[in-house]
Formats: sequence, structure tokens, C-alpha cells
Amino acid sequence: MSTPAPIYPIRLYGDPVLRRKARPLQHTDTLQVPGFAPQTLREVADTMLETMFAARGVGLAAPQVGLGVRMFVAVEYDDNEEENEGKETPLKSRVLREYVMLNPKLTVINKKKDKSETEGCLSIPDIYEEGVPRARAVRVDYTDLEGQAQTVEAEDYLARVFQHENDHLDGKLFLDHLPQDVVNDHRAALLAMQRQARLNLDRLAQQARQGAEEHRDERL
Ligand SMILES: [Zn+2]
Repeated sequence: MSTPAPIYPIRLYGDPVLRRKARPLQHTDTLQVPGFAPQTLREVADTMLETMFAARGVGLAAPQVGLGVRMFVAVEYDDNEEENEGKETPLKSRVLREYVMLNPKLTVINKKKDKSETEGCLSIPDIYEEGVPRARAVRVDYTDLEGQAQTVEAEDYLARVFQHENDHLDGKLFLDHLPQDVVNDHRAALLAMQRQARLNLDRLAQQARQGAEEHRDERL
């Protein structure tokens, strides 16, 4: 039996990191997810992908794991429903393509809005809504983990995923695109998430204090 890959805790609605504009980064940067040792960008990207698979998501942006940097991961799955029907196929085995994007720049190539798909967010668990207007097709210019400039064009569902993840880098959430009365329908759940987000932050702060004390003891 292999040990499961480490994953990051996902920041919940109400956590202020989800509302901050993220800063640009370089592929050579070392990052430290709160509660974890400093890691290379590749290690962070791998752990973000594992975190996303574990949560059965299609994308995850760095602010969702507490990092205020312009980076996200996303995947295209092989959604052959007939073949997958009735099977608990591990998501990872259905990946067609993985994306790790640094400093993405989105350009709309088909302005026509699509509102038909249901949208959700790993930071806003169990809330799914139709009606988030997204451009039908986008181009994304980004830097990859090797520092190379890349371009990808996406339409329909993948275009929606890229727009959703890119929004996270500007502190925007999919609920912001919905009418207030639709958001209000989820008021109780959202308040509960905000409370949980605060508890999680308190626990992280406590861990950080304990960590600092242990290090001080080691030096004595
Ligand atoms: Zn999201």
C-alpha cells in the first residue's frame, strides 16, 4: 500500500485570501503554503493537483490554498459517460490534459455568453448554480513551470473553467456573477462557511505559534 499523496486544506468562503488580488510570480519561486514547508513551484503545482483530484474538482487556484500568487491548475477529463457509467473511476485515470498556468492573461475570442452550465467552487462546497455568464471561448497566454510562454484556446466548458480560475486571481468568486436573490437563497450555508473559515484560520495561527515555540526550544 502506498501512502496517499499530501494535499492542502482548501480555503473556504469567508477567508480573506479569497478576496485579495494575487501577485505575479516567477517559475523559479519557492512558495510556502501556511502549515507546510517551503516548496518549489512544481511541488506546489503537484500538490494542488492532488488536492483538486481529492476534492473531485476541475480546477484550483493558488488563493484557494492560501497563496496570493497568480497561478492555477485545471484539467480536462475524458467524460465518456457510457464508458464511465456505474464505475467509481478514479478521476486521475480520466485526465486528458493537465494545465498549470502561471501569470495567465485571458483574452475573450467569442464574446457570446453562455449561462447554461452549472458552476460550483471547491471553496464554496455544495453550492451549484446555473446562470453564471461566461464567454464562449477564450485564449489564455501563460507561463508554464519551465518558464516557457504558452498559449491555449478553449471553448465551452473548459473556457468556463479558465474564466472561473482566473477570477480567483482577482479575488472574484462565481457567486459575484449571480443575482443577489440567488445568492441570498444560500445565506445560511454561506454564513456557516464563514464561521468555519474563521475557525480554520484560528487553528492555522495556533499551529504557527506552536511551530515557532518548538523552534525556539530547539535553539535553547
Ligand atoms: Zn473556485
